Amino acid sequence: MRRWYVELISKTARRTTMAHQHKRGIARMQTALLPAAVEDYVRASSVVRVIDGYVSALHLAGVGFAKSVPADTGRPGYAPDDLLRLYLYGYWNRMRSSRRLEVECKRNLEVMWLMGQLAPDHKTIADFRRVNAGAFQVVCGQFVQFLRESKLVGSSAPVVAVDGSKFKACASKKSVVDSEQAAKERKKIERRIAEYLKEMDEADRAEDGEAQPTDEQIEAALERLRKRDKKLEQAQIELAAKQQVSPEKEARVGLTDPDCVLLKQKGGGALAGFNVQQALDTQHHLIVAHEVTTRGNDHTSLESMATQAQAALKAESLTALADCGYMNGEQAQACEDQGVTPVVPMPERSNTRAAQCYPQTMFTYDQATHTYRCPAGEMLKRYKRDRAKRTDYYWTSACARCALKANCTKSKRRSIARSWFADAAERAHQRAQRNPDLMRLRSASAEHPFANLKWMLHGGFAVRTLPKVKGEMALAVLTYNLKRAANVLGISSLIEKFKLSAALNGA
Ligand code: SF4
Repeated sequence: MRRWYVELISKTARRTTMAHQHKRGIARMQTALLPAAVEDYVRASSVVRVIDGYVSALHLAGVGFAKSVPADTGRPGYAPDDLLRLYLYGYWNRMRSSRRLEVECKRNLEVMWLMGQLAPDHKTIADFRRVNAGAFQVVCGQFVQFLRESKLVGSSAPVVAVDGSKFKACASKKSVVDSEQAAKERKKIERRIAEYLKEMDEADRAEDGEAQPTDEQIEAALERLRKRDKKLEQAQIELAAKQQVSPEKEARVGLTDPDCVLLKQKGGGALAGFNVQQALDTQHHLIVAHEVTTRGNDHTSLESMATQAQAALKAESLTALADCGYMNGEQAQACEDQGVTPVVPMPERSNTRAAQCYPQTMFTYDQATHTYRCPAGEMLKRYKRDRAKRTDYYWTSACARCALKANCTKSKRRSIARSWFADAAERAHQRAQRNPDLMRLRSASAEHPFANLKWMLHGGFAVRTLPKVKGEMALAVLTYNLKRAANVLGISSLIEKFKLSAALNGA
């Protein structure tokens, strides 16, 4: 009876004490009876398992990764598959800096699991991305083939959305200069060098104890200025060469990244960067083709992107959706010639929109007579043919006495330009007009991958020059497609597909 009473009291006391305690982990020095494995810390649904499953199924020797075959001599290097795993994890989680990845190798259990507890230094990690730009593009293309074989892209009647977006280069817009800016900055540098030399003389004459910059500090500053001046001098030579080739174009040269260009942005202003084009399968929003360009707009990108998508999907025919920025009769005709059906709306001509004039779409072309009919019912005949621009021009003499003239033109006569490829352009426009659902599908699909890629490449590219930028973009597109495929199929069934693919390809 007494013992029962004591147990009851101690139980109540324990409960009371527990009610006032927080949840605590085990003591740091506690030894486990059986040591925990790193495997125990990685969830079955963790993304690292997808990355590992994908890379394990790759046959890297044939892809072109540097050092994919270990050398017979010297210290063993890190295997490219491990470094590829690390980069895919990094891009998946928006950690692209080599220094950050080095740190993650030492503290992040998922990375430790993925890398088998290897921790390469940041230079090794950075070098891997620098030298393997071509190999990233190959594996990115191979993954699209895997998606096609898995029937995630390329249905019997494939529809792709083509779109472009501007990505910031690893350079500021101030570093992309024209000849005037280069000359101006060189003069500034000249003045600054003269000031520093004067300061050096003054420092020599100064009394002891007076605060003056040391000779070493001034020498270092002079060295920086001379280096900058040499770069600008080189830029001036390049600019002169560019201007000789095409004097009508405004020539600019990048001092930090020689390949980047100054691109106009929608809201105004400019950006030093690259124009990235993509074609994505509208079925699951997976990117089937992409391209990094230095073109200032999308006007000449439709054929290239649509045919790249067609080749990637091994499709005889394909429907390509694009916005009005891609409208180009010659490109539309080239697409049709290769089995691609372009669906692209025609833009309103900017000069007529600004002047609030009738858009060109209000003028009807008559195929039989090769004339235009205007909103006033007058017939516009061809008055000029420009062979260089492959364009015909139409007008009528009725404009002078027309009651609608104020709404039509501010000039003496309204002139309508018609490209030699206008028929193909009109067919593409008509398809867009007749299928508003396709246009809605385009805008709903195209934005999604770019939003993800911009998130991954937050702050712009981490590498410089076009070949390396292409490599980084391929790495980002591969990560996006991997992520998307995991979302569509689920992690375990995607891993099963990787295993099956590896067995079939003998990896
Ligand atoms: S201004 Fe000329 S082109 Fe325009 S509606 Fe009148 S007649 Fe037609």
